[in-house]
Amino acid sequence: MNKGILFIISGFAGSGKGTIVKELLKRYDNYALSVSATTRAPRPGEEHGRDYFFVSHEEFEKMIDSGGLLEYAEYVGNYYGTPCQYVDEKLSEGKDVILEIEQQGALQIKRKRPDALLMFVMPPSVQEVYNRLKKRGTETEEVILKRMRQGAKEAEVIDEYDFLIINDELDKCVADVHNTIMCARMATIRNRGLIDEVKVGFKEFLKDKD
Ligand code: 5GP
Repeated sequence: MNKGILFIISGFAGSGKGTIVKELLKRYDNYALSVSATTRAPRPGEEHGRDYFFVSHEEFEKMIDSGGLLEYAEYVGNYYGTPCQYVDEKLSEGKDVILEIEQQGALQIKRKRPDALLMFVMPPSVQEVYNRLKKRGTETEEVILKRMRQGAKEAEVIDEYDFLIINDELDKCVADVHNTIMCARMATIRNRGLIDEVKVGFKEFLKDKD
């Protein structure tokens, strides 16, 4: 069995990546979602262990020191990081593991795991980025502006990603992400075992034919 694909979804705050991930998990059975650790406070409706592992600064720093994080970053004043163990377990089981993380973390993973696939999701326009943050209604205008400024910085790094996904119409966007993963499964780099088998198979077949 091939290992699963480690793939990263990043996008501006309000890009809809959270909804896309929820839909992928609901519609298909090949995905596993990595739950991150963070030092930020839970938003209404968020649950410890489902949305994030909400931890203190001290606990987070302990995780860094013990090497338990695949990557981590500071984002808008808080730490966010991906615990390694779950990711590697699920990849070995053949699951495609989703990391919904921001760019500094995505670039760390790109260096550490060159076969990871990086996707950047964005709404069709900058105005739409703002509209969606506003509509979410969970942050103050000041925080929204902070996230828009962060977005401007993030736009500078989109070129580092493998794929750009426009989230205009949700169903199409979810299908685009899923189809991209399905294509990646067919890449020769992820099918070395099968290719070796075919080579041996031909040798076997032809060995007493000359
Ligand atoms: P939020 O506070 O809106 O849930 O997340 C803020 C940002 O942190 C988002 O861009 C989200 O993708 C990112 N993020 C969530 N978990 C992680 C993580 O484990 N590592 C990194 N590097 N970023 C994360």
